[in-house]
Amino acid sequence: MTRGAIPQASSKIQSRSIRSASLRAFSHHSRSLLDIESLSDADIHSLLKEAGRFRRVSIQKAPLKGRHIALLFYESSTRTRCSFELAAKSLGASTTLVSASASSIEKGESLVDTGATLAAMGADCIVIRHPSSGAPHVLARHLRIPIVNAGDGMHEHPSQALLDCYTISEHRQSLKGLRLLLVGDIYHSRVARSNALLLSRLGAQVTFCGPPALLPEVAETIAPGVRVMRDFDRALPQADVIMMLRVQKERLAGLQISADEYVRDYQLTPERLALAPAKALVMHPGPMVRGMELTSEVADSARSLVLEQVRNGVAVRRAILLRALGGRA
Ligand code: ASP
Repeated sequence: MTRGAIPQASSKIQSRSIRSASLRAFSHHSRSLLDIESLSDADIHSLLKEAGRFRRVSIQKAPLKGRHIALLFYESSTRTRCSFELAAKSLGASTTLVSASASSIEKGESLVDTGATLAAMGADCIVIRHPSSGAPHVLARHLRIPIVNAGDGMHEHPSQALLDCYTISEHRQSLKGLRLLLVGDIYHSRVARSNALLLSRLGAQVTFCGPPALLPEVAETIAPGVRVMRDFDRALPQADVIMMLRVQKERLAGLQISADEYVRDYQLTPERLALAPAKALVMHPGPMVRGMELTSEVADSARSLVLEQVRNGVAVRRAILLRALGGRA
């Protein structure tokens, strides 16, 4: 064997292994759910279709049996965490919950070290919620397992947008031309951002409504065609779906909001709801703060889809986990 043969052979092996490693990384990335922007139209349609199947047909098999899903939650959550957990378990996967306040995260462990630890223990997928925008992307860059974004800072909450979109589609033939009004704390809302991106892409006309402090004019640039309106009473008659948002006290960072003025101008009351078309639907991603962004009468009215959103969340998250782990239902 010539002296040159070994490096040649090893460089071939090396380039093959680099190629297969990057293909592996690519396939993990393509199964991750990091944000709405990186989903293809085909991904969106197949996730919504799969969620519909889960809603109609009861699960007979356990397609994710033997798979392990880590739920890494650096922020509090009720709906998102529980529905990912229920979705995972209903497909046969096991789950482990790591929350910031009962783990080594409190001792200063980095995000990547925590993620790598979970992967080394055999987690096949990490579902992460984090107060910093982009945290799921950082994990996805460092780990070779699919990462699912369960809400990152003020950036995105893609599974919420998918379940909202699915819920609307159960009530409306088509999303084309649907007039979606998102109201309240748009600035801090990852739900508003993901919904605007997803629904405008599917043909809806998105309007944001809120006071300047919680809705800067620049919000119009989130997606093509998005409008900003300040006057809730004038926006309501043009809405097919009214999505109310919570004022995110944990992210206000010194911003002073007068609750009285907010309630006066932006609370959805039965009187205000009467200004909207008779078939207009009310949505809220939760947690609702009754008496602030909406009244109990509205929250509990027949027009409110809040609990339907929660119910559909489990089906949509089953579809997301199945896509992440490559299982077949
Ligand atoms: N639950 C949603 C989120 O985590 C909305 C909210 O917290 O107000 O973004």
